Amino acid sequence: MVTQDYIALEEKFGAHNYHPLDVVINRGEGVWVYDVEGNRYLDCLSAYSALNQGHVHPKILSALVAQAQKVTLTSRAFRNDQLPLLYKELSELTGYEMSLPMNSGAEAVETALKVARKWAYRIKNVPRYKAEIIVASGNFHGRTISIISFSTEPLYRDDFGEFTPGFVIVPYGDARAIQNAITPNTAAVLLEPIQGEGGVIIPPAGYLKAVKGICEKNEVLFIADEIQTGLGRTGKLFACDHENLRPDIVIIGKALSGGFYPVSAILADQPILGLIQPGEHGSTFGGNPLGAAVARAALKVLIEEKLIENSFQMGEYFKEQLEEIPSPHVKEIRGKGLLIGIELKREARGARRFCEALKTTGILAKETHEHVIRFAPPLIIDRNTIDWALERIRPVLMMQ
Ligand SMILES: *Cc1c(COP(=O)(O)O)cnc(C)c1O
Repeated sequence: MVTQDYIALEEKFGAHNYHPLDVVINRGEGVWVYDVEGNRYLDCLSAYSALNQGHVHPKILSALVAQAQKVTLTSRAFRNDQLPLLYKELSELTGYEMSLPMNSGAEAVETALKVARKWAYRIKNVPRYKAEIIVASGNFHGRTISIISFSTEPLYRDDFGEFTPGFVIVPYGDARAIQNAITPNTAAVLLEPIQGEGGVIIPPAGYLKAVKGICEKNEVLFIADEIQTGLGRTGKLFACDHENLRPDIVIIGKALSGGFYPVSAILADQPILGLIQPGEHGSTFGGNPLGAAVARAALKVLIEEKLIENSFQMGEYFKEQLEEIPSPHVKEIRGKGLLIGIELKREARGARRFCEALKTTGILAKETHEHVIRFAPPLIIDRNTIDWALERIRPVLMMQ
């Protein structure tokens, strides 16, 4: 079978809920992927930052294989010998007292929303079912009905109501708007420290810190969705670390498993996460020994290989070099660490055609929103590979 055969099968038998680039990958190694024709590409998306450790990292692979040969699933009806160690290692790494494991990012976001609501009723004494959660326009937190209830993207939302109530949307980047939206019933503010899917939108410096201050003053929880920005992507463990702030709840996923397996979690201290009682929340696969072993290895790789530091340094270099390209199409280049967005001018006729052109030169990147090309390679990338990429990005950004 060749590329077109796979595409034809997918189009015929699969739901068309994505619009992928027409490359059919059958192998990955480090920063590289290979298609069924044997072509090699540099992965500059990293599965939306799930592959911070690179494709098929050998240490995570051997943890996965070793654990798969022992026991994969116990359910939480019984205990297993991997989850307690993941709990402890997550706590040591992040400084949060507790965590609650789930699978997909969206599930972890739902978990954070449930915990915030319970906290509001039990600790803040918000009247039952009146709890409000403030979110930002342009957000992306996943695809469940409750989460799309507060999306501002019509495509994600409009055909899928009736919606879950209890959310208040304010403009992103405006701390005063949050102050004004707080009522006695506000349970939490939920934000991405950088809006990845929204187009790599970086809020004004001091915004997150100001929001945290407002939350503290008003007895409101600050929840950071670090599913995409966390675990080194922006050159710090968490993007919130750039402003030295500690959210009440942090949501992680994606790179928590180095791309091997869906593992997500929320992190918080005992007074918040300790509120959850047996039976109130759970997941058959959440906290399973295979996922826990993989996550432990993925975190170890992140630290041992100094990927966070590398993300910071390589991100600076990549961004600097991109800025040197005298492209007529570029409106703005922004980013932190290895989460970089190139916003194109409207006249450039969309980012998609640039991503198609990059593909033919051996680079896989994806447009985010209509006008932004995102470059987010695995954090293991080195300077030579970035130079290799720049040689190919340059002519594409200069094309007609
Ligand atoms: C990817 C993502 C999610 C959703 O994670 P899934 O694993 O796709 O459910 C939530 N929030 C942010 C910021 C994300 O980037």
